[in-house]
Amino acid sequence: MNAVPGSVARRPLRVAVVGAGPAGIYTADSLTFERDDILVDVIERLPEPFGLLRFGVAPDHLTIKSAAGSLQQVLDRPGVRLLCNTQVGTDVKVEDLRAAYDAVVYATGADADRSLTIPGEDLPGSTSATAFVKWYNGHPEADAFDLAQTRRAVVVGAGNVALDACRILLKDPGSFTAEMPLPAPVREALRASAVTDVHLLARRGPQDAKFTSKELGELLRLERVATVVDARDLTAPDANGFSPMARRNLKLLEQAAERDPGEQVRRLHLHFHTRPVAIEGNGTVAGVRVEHGPDSTAGLLDADLVLRAVGYRSRPVDGIPHAEETATIPHVDHRVIREGEPSAGEYAVGWAKRGPTGILGRNRSDADDTAQVILDDLDVLLALHPEDPGGLADFTAQR
Ligand code: NAP
Repeated sequence: MNAVPGSVARRPLRVAVVGAGPAGIYTADSLTFERDDILVDVIERLPEPFGLLRFGVAPDHLTIKSAAGSLQQVLDRPGVRLLCNTQVGTDVKVEDLRAAYDAVVYATGADADRSLTIPGEDLPGSTSATAFVKWYNGHPEADAFDLAQTRRAVVVGAGNVALDACRILLKDPGSFTAEMPLPAPVREALRASAVTDVHLLARRGPQDAKFTSKELGELLRLERVATVVDARDLTAPDANGFSPMARRNLKLLEQAAERDPGEQVRRLHLHFHTRPVAIEGNGTVAGVRVEHGPDSTAGLLDADLVLRAVGYRSRPVDGIPHAEETATIPHVDHRVIREGEPSAGEYAVGWAKRGPTGILGRNRSDADDTAQVILDDLDVLLALHPEDPGGLADFTAQR
């Protein structure tokens, strides 16, 4: 490895990447690929790297999970260090980080959840799908789920997280193979699960669902699970105007609606044009009051568990600019905006910058673009500190 051909000898550029999720590690990759004049410290608040790849992607999605292997190779590069258990904003202040590095890249992701803001949302038994996802992935801060008394679950939302939650709740526990990284207590809880019925509530029609066809097909093909969907919800005036994905989804749903549900162990109920208006129960969740269709027909779905899967949200980090309205880090061309101006030496990447949408691969191109802007700024960055700012080595030695 070498400095970029043609470049004059200079001290290395020190970069801190805050957050060891895919966006952060891809940025470290883009910055250090085949060059040794950029040193990157990736700083992570959790004890383990890989962010939502580790704690968000479902354990039965082994192909996606396997991307951790290439991320690990980046972390293993000589110019890249990983510092875990280090929370920026708390353990180390942003201003100290900026003093210790030429550039700081915020890749803090979006692992908090959005709420429904309906009555009863805080009843025991009502929680976020994010909490459920963290639990089945063994997140160190996750609360345990006991499904032994849960027969009916309602999942609110029509994105891939909602489908993940439905699939994990409905899947035959015997089909979680040994290579799937489920923690032992999670395997045990899924084996003891009493779940028979899972209701997915989509507030719009199937053509507007956010979930992707691959994930929908996987859910609809689960063994020993019947799909119940009202064919009237699937009628659309002009399917030709829909996106290819919407048309594929409609086809999959039509096929599922035509299938004889037969005597299956578990049932998936798909409710389109249906929104929750209240979560009801005396001390704990007993049901979800819903409104269906354009005429808002009211109904009550019995439920022991309600999971809202209505999108992720970034948490503000002390010292990092945060736009409350979008819950993202304000930026222009990947450069963070602080007090109305692009801030020299501060960049943002991934969901913390773009908001919580897009698959893993989207972070790859985002990281490349962000790294390119840092490389474009190289001379300016090296001028911010007259000498090598040294990184956080002393700090980590103390820890
Ligand atoms: P998402 O794709 O944005 O879906 C959120 C869903 O919640 C939408 O259907 C939305 O409906 C609905 N919603 C929002 N507010 C609501 C409310 N107040 N009441 C009822 N419904 C509401 O978010 P996500 O499922 O969290 O996924 C985040 C990203 O991760 C996505 O890009 C997703 O593809 C990705 N992901 C991928 C996989 C995979 O590839 N296997 C797995 C998990 C996540 P509207 O459309 O009407 O707003």
